[in-house]
Amino acid sequence: MKKKKLLLHLCCGPCATHPIVLLREEYDITLFFANSNISPEAEYKKRLAEAERLAVICEVPLQEEQYDHEEWLAWVAGSEDEPEGGERCEKCFEYNLGIAAKYAVDNGFDLFTTTLTVSPHKNSKMIFAIGDKVGPFLAVDLKKQDGYRKGVELSKMYELYRQNYCGCEFSLAERNVKDK
Ligand code: SF4
Repeated sequence: MKKKKLLLHLCCGPCATHPIVLLREEYDITLFFANSNISPEAEYKKRLAEAERLAVICEVPLQEEQYDHEEWLAWVAGSEDEPEGGERCEKCFEYNLGIAAKYAVDNGFDLFTTTLTVSPHKNSKMIFAIGDKVGPFLAVDLKKQDGYRKGVELSKMYELYRQNYCGCEFSLAERNVKDK
Protein backbone atom coordinates (compact mmCIF):
# COMPACT_ATOMS: atom_id res chain seq x y z
CA MET A 1 0.00 0.00 0.00
CA LYS A 2 1.21 3.48 -0.86
CA LYS A 3 2.47 5.38 2.19
CA LYS A 4 0.97 8.73 3.12
CA LYS A 5 3.16 11.76 2.46
CA LEU A 6 4.33 13.38 5.68
CA LEU A 7 6.13 16.71 5.96
CA LEU A 8 8.34 16.53 9.04
CA HIS A 9 9.27 19.95 10.35
CA LEU A 10 12.61 19.62 12.10
CA CYS A 11 14.00 22.13 14.57
CA CYS A 12 17.54 20.72 14.25
CA GLY A 13 19.38 17.58 13.12
CA PRO A 14 19.68 15.87 16.52
CA CYS A 15 15.94 16.17 17.25
CA ALA A 16 15.11 14.56 13.89
CA THR A 17 17.27 11.44 14.24
CA HIS A 18 14.89 9.14 16.06
CA PRO A 19 11.66 10.57 14.55
CA ILE A 20 12.96 9.65 11.09
CA VAL A 21 13.54 6.05 12.20
CA LEU A 22 10.12 5.90 13.84
CA LEU A 23 7.98 7.65 11.24
CA ARG A 24 9.49 6.32 8.05
CA GLU A 25 8.07 2.88 8.81
CA GLU A 26 4.60 4.24 8.16
CA TYR A 27 5.08 7.43 6.13
CA ASP A 28 6.87 8.78 3.09
CA ILE A 29 8.88 11.54 4.81
CA THR A 30 10.21 14.86 3.61
CA LEU A 31 12.15 17.00 6.09
CA PHE A 32 11.28 20.68 6.31
CA PHE A 33 13.70 23.16 7.86
CA ALA A 34 11.72 26.31 8.75
CA ASN A 35 13.39 27.95 11.72
CA SER A 36 13.58 31.72 11.43
CA ASN A 37 13.60 31.81 15.25
CA ILE A 38 17.27 30.80 15.32
CA SER A 39 19.78 33.53 16.08
CA PRO A 40 22.44 34.53 15.21
CA GLU A 41 22.34 33.65 11.52
CA ALA A 42 25.67 31.81 11.79
CA GLU A 43 24.00 29.44 14.26
CA TYR A 44 21.08 29.01 11.86
CA LYS A 45 23.48 28.02 9.09
CA LYS A 46 25.29 25.59 11.37
CA ARG A 47 22.05 23.83 12.35
CA LEU A 48 20.86 23.79 8.75
CA ALA A 49 24.15 22.23 7.60
CA GLU A 50 23.75 19.48 10.19
CA ALA A 51 20.13 18.90 9.14
CA GLU A 52 21.32 18.55 5.54
CA ARG A 53 24.01 16.12 6.60
CA LEU A 54 21.43 14.03 8.44
CA ALA A 55 19.15 14.05 5.39
CA VAL A 56 21.98 12.60 3.32
CA ILE A 57 22.80 9.97 5.96
CA CYS A 58 19.15 8.88 6.22
CA GLU A 59 18.43 9.29 2.50
CA VAL A 60 15.40 11.52 2.96
CA PRO A 61 14.68 14.73 1.01
CA LEU A 62 14.98 18.06 2.80
CA GLN A 63 13.39 21.39 1.92
CA GLU A 64 14.55 24.67 3.42
CA GLU A 65 12.22 27.58 4.02
CA GLN A 66 13.64 31.07 3.59
CA TYR A 67 15.26 32.48 6.76
CA ASP A 68 13.68 35.72 7.96
CA HIS A 69 14.60 36.44 11.56
CA GLU A 70 13.33 40.05 11.39
CA GLU A 71 9.86 38.81 10.51
CA TRP A 72 10.02 36.29 13.35
CA LEU A 73 11.03 39.03 15.80
CA ALA A 74 8.03 41.10 14.70
CA TRP A 75 5.79 38.04 15.23
CA VAL A 76 6.90 37.53 18.86
CA ALA A 77 7.05 41.26 19.66
CA GLY A 78 5.75 41.99 23.15
CA SER A 79 6.75 38.62 24.59
CA GLU A 80 10.52 38.86 24.34
CA ASP A 81 10.93 38.79 28.13
CA GLU A 82 8.74 35.74 28.70
CA PRO A 83 10.58 32.75 30.20
CA GLU A 84 11.23 29.74 28.00
CA GLY A 85 8.04 27.69 27.71
CA GLY A 86 5.76 30.73 27.96
CA GLU A 87 3.89 32.96 25.53
CA ARG A 88 6.93 33.72 23.35
CA CYS A 89 7.41 30.02 22.68
CA GLU A 90 3.72 29.55 21.93
CA LYS A 91 3.96 32.28 19.30
CA CYS A 92 7.21 30.78 18.00
CA PHE A 93 5.58 27.36 17.52
CA GLU A 94 2.66 28.97 15.74
CA TYR A 95 5.00 30.84 13.42
CA ASN A 96 7.02 27.80 12.34
CA LEU A 97 4.12 25.34 12.29
CA GLY A 98 1.99 27.78 10.31
CA ILE A 99 4.69 27.88 7.64
CA ALA A 100 5.02 24.09 7.66
CA ALA A 101 1.25 23.62 7.39
CA LYS A 102 1.04 25.95 4.41
CA TYR A 103 3.94 24.22 2.68
CA ALA A 104 2.34 20.81 3.31
CA VAL A 105 -1.03 21.85 1.90
CA ASP A 106 0.46 23.70 -1.09
CA ASN A 107 2.67 20.76 -2.01
CA GLY A 108 0.31 17.81 -1.76
CA PHE A 109 1.32 16.33 1.59
CA ASP A 110 -1.30 14.35 3.48
CA LEU A 111 -0.05 15.43 6.89
CA PHE A 112 2.62 17.43 8.66
CA THR A 113 4.19 17.15 12.10
CA THR A 114 7.21 18.45 14.00
CA THR A 115 10.23 17.21 15.93
CA LEU A 116 9.62 19.90 18.56
CA THR A 117 7.87 17.34 20.78
CA VAL A 118 11.14 15.42 21.19
CA SER A 119 12.44 17.93 23.72
CA PRO A 120 11.57 17.30 27.39
CA HIS A 121 11.51 21.11 27.72
CA LYS A 122 8.67 21.54 25.25
CA ASN A 123 4.97 21.26 26.03
CA SER A 124 3.56 18.66 23.63
CA LYS A 125 -0.07 19.55 24.41
CA MET A 126 0.61 23.15 23.44
CA ILE A 127 2.28 21.99 20.21
CA PHE A 128 -0.62 19.65 19.38
CA ALA A 129 -3.19 22.42 19.90
CA ILE A 130 -1.27 24.76 17.60
CA GLY A 131 -0.67 22.06 14.98
CA ASP A 132 -4.37 21.20 14.87
CA LYS A 133 -5.24 24.86 14.50
CA VAL A 134 -2.98 25.52 11.52
CA GLY A 135 -3.38 22.46 9.28
CA PRO A 136 -3.54 18.66 8.75
CA PHE A 137 -1.43 17.83 11.78
CA LEU A 138 -0.21 14.40 12.90
CA ALA A 139 -0.15 14.54 16.71
CA VAL A 140 2.69 12.29 17.81
CA ASP A 141 4.61 12.85 21.03
CA LEU A 142 8.13 11.99 19.94
CA LYS A 143 9.66 12.15 23.42
CA LYS A 144 7.59 9.13 24.46
CA GLN A 145 9.03 5.60 24.52
CA ASP A 146 12.44 7.01 25.38
CA GLY A 147 12.48 9.06 22.17
CA TYR A 148 14.71 11.80 23.54
CA ARG A 149 17.42 9.42 24.79
CA LYS A 150 17.36 7.38 21.58
CA GLY A 151 17.81 10.60 19.63
CA VAL A 152 20.82 11.61 21.73
CA GLU A 153 22.42 8.23 21.06
CA LEU A 154 21.85 8.46 17.31
CA SER A 155 23.19 12.03 17.29
CA LYS A 156 26.39 10.81 18.94
CA MET A 157 26.67 8.00 16.43
CA TYR A 158 26.30 10.43 13.50
CA GLU A 159 28.57 12.97 15.28
CA LEU A 160 25.97 15.71 14.89
CA TYR A 161 26.50 19.15 16.41
CA ARG A 162 24.17 19.58 19.43
CA GLN A 163 23.47 23.14 20.51
CA ASN A 164 23.10 24.13 24.17
CA TYR A 165 20.25 26.64 23.78
CA CYS A 166 16.84 26.47 22.18
CA GLY A 167 17.31 28.90 19.31
CA CYS A 168 16.40 32.57 19.69
CA GLU A 169 18.58 35.30 21.22
CA PHE A 170 16.33 35.34 24.31
CA SER A 171 16.95 31.66 25.00
CA LEU A 172 20.67 32.24 24.42
CA ALA A 173 20.65 35.04 27.01
CA GLU A 174 18.84 32.73 29.48
CA ARG A 175 21.45 30.04 28.84
CA ASN A 176 24.30 32.49 29.42
CA VAL A 177 22.80 33.60 32.75
CA LYS A 178 22.40 29.96 33.85
CA ASP A 179 25.99 29.20 32.86
CA LYS A 180 27.25 32.04 35.04
S1 SF4 B 1 13.02 29.66 23.46
FE1 SF4 B 1 12.91 28.34 21.66
S2 SF4 B 1 10.74 27.91 21.35
FE2 SF4 B 1 10.91 29.66 22.73
S3 SF4 B 1 10.81 31.44 21.40
FE3 SF4 B 1 12.95 30.99 21.63
S4 SF4 B 1 13.47 29.65 19.92
FE4 SF4 B 1 11.24 29.70 20.08
